[in-house]
Amino acid sequence: MKTIIEPFRIKSVEPIRMTTPRQRRQYLRQAGYNLFRIPAAHVIIDLLTDSGTGAMSSEQWAGVMRGDESYAGASSYYRFLEVVEQLTGMRNILPTHQGRASERILVEVMIGSGQAGRGRLVPNNAHFDTTRANIEHSGAEAVDLLTSQGTSPTHLAPFKGNMDLAKLETLLDERADDVPFVMLTITCNSNGGQPVSLENLQAVRALCDRYGKSLFLDAARFAENAWFIKQREPGRAGQSVSQIVREMFELADGATISAKKDGLVNIGGVLLIRDDALFRKACDLLILTEGFVTYGGLAGRDLEAMAVGFREVLDEDYLRYRIRSIQYMGEKLLAGGVSIVQPPGGHAIYIDATDFCPHIPKMQFPGQAVACGLYELGGIRSCEIGSVMMGELAVMESVRLAVPRRTYTQSHIDYVIEVVLALKTKAHKLRGFRIIEQPQALRHFTARFEPM
Ligand SMILES: *Cc1c(COP(=O)(O)O)cnc(C)c1O
Repeated sequence: MKTIIEPFRIKSVEPIRMTTPRQRRQYLRQAGYNLFRIPAAHVIIDLLTDSGTGAMSSEQWAGVMRGDESYAGASSYYRFLEVVEQLTGMRNILPTHQGRASERILVEVMIGSGQAGRGRLVPNNAHFDTTRANIEHSGAEAVDLLTSQGTSPTHLAPFKGNMDLAKLETLLDERADDVPFVMLTITCNSNGGQPVSLENLQAVRALCDRYGKSLFLDAARFAENAWFIKQREPGRAGQSVSQIVREMFELADGATISAKKDGLVNIGGVLLIRDDALFRKACDLLILTEGFVTYGGLAGRDLEAMAVGFREVLDEDYLRYRIRSIQYMGEKLLAGGVSIVQPPGGHAIYIDATDFCPHIPKMQFPGQAVACGLYELGGIRSCEIGSVMMGELAVMESVRLAVPRRTYTQSHIDYVIEVVLALKTKAHKLRGFRIIEQPQALRHFTARFEPM
C-alpha cells in the first residue's frame, strides 16, 4: 500500500476546545499579539514547538508507574543507562533535566567558568540558541559553518545540515589553539531541521583528529537524522536506523541530547563524555545544580520514560510516518502556492513570510503578521522566526510550524493546510506590527505588539 498511516492507535485523548475567530481576536488583543502569551487552552492546534510536546506511549506511561524514586542508584537509572549505552556505544552517561543543562556542564568542563572562553571559538554547523548562549556566557564565540547550500532557503539538497569542511579546515588551520572543541548539530535545528550526512560527519571527525580536537554532537534529533541518512545517503538503505545511529555516535567524543525531541518524553536530557577524566569533572558539576549523578534533576519515572522513548524512536515505521507527515504538509502548501523552506526538514515547515505578505516591510514583522493571522483564522499557534526573534541577525522572515511527535492526526494536519491556504487568499489584508513594550533580551517571549 502506498498510503503511510499513523503507526499507532489512540488510547487516551485530550479534548481540544474550539474557539471562534471573534474570541481569538480578543485573546490576541489581551496577549499583546504575542502568541507566547496566549494560554494553551485557547489554542486549537499547537505548533509552537516540537520540544517536550509529544505524546508518550502506553509503554512509557507504564514505565512512569514502574519508576523507582530512590535517591541513589534507582533501578530506573540502570535501565536508562543500559538503553543509552546500547544506543550510542558510550559508557560515560549522565541524565540531566534537559538539553541546555547538558550544554552548560559541557561548556564548563571544556572551556571553564567565568569568562574563561574569552578569545576562543566553538565551531558548529549551526548552533542552537541555548548552545550559543551557553558558549557566549563563557566568553567564547559560537561560530556557524553551514555550507552556502545550507543557508539558502530553497536550494534542494539532501544534506543541508552539513558542515562546510573548507571553512572548518581554514578555521582550524588559522586558530587551532583557540578552538576548545568542535560541535555538530543533528539534525540542524537552526536551518529547519536539515540532516547531516555520515560522509560529512566522518570528514569532520577526520579534521578534528588532524588538529587534535574533540567532537561533540548536539544530538536532539539523532533518529530523524539517521532516517534521512538511510533514505538519502548512497549505500545506507540496507542498514537499520539503530546501526546508523550507533555509527554516528561512534564518530564523536561525546554528545548533549535534549530528550524532549527524539527521546519522546516531555522532560529530560543526556550528557555523554567518553574521556574519563572530563566525565568525572562533569559528574562533580552535575551535582552542583542538577542533583545526584543517578537522577540528574529528574524523577525516577522520567528516567524510565526516557529509557522506553529512546528505544521506540528507532522504530522505522514511526520514523517513516514522522518524516512523511512533515513532507506531506510541505507538499500541500507548495502546491497551494505558499513559499516554504525546502526541502522540508525533520520536524517543521517554515513559511516564507516575506513572500506570503510582500506588502509588509521587514521592520513591521511580516512573520508576526502571518503567525497572528493563522491564530485568528484557525486557532493555530506557530512561531515567528525572523526579526522579532533574531533582531538584526535574522536571515529570513519566517513562520515555523513545528509538529509535536505522535500528537496530531492527518486530519489535524489537513486542517492546518486548509487554514494556511485560506489565509493566503486574504494575505493582502494582513497588517504589520510595531513593538510597544519589550524586555532587554529574548524579546520574542514577552514583547507586546500593536497592529499598524
Ligand atoms: C531543543 C534543543 C536544544 C536544547 O534542549 P532543551 O531540552 O530545550 O534545553 C539544544 N539543541 C537543539 C538542536 C535543540 O533542538
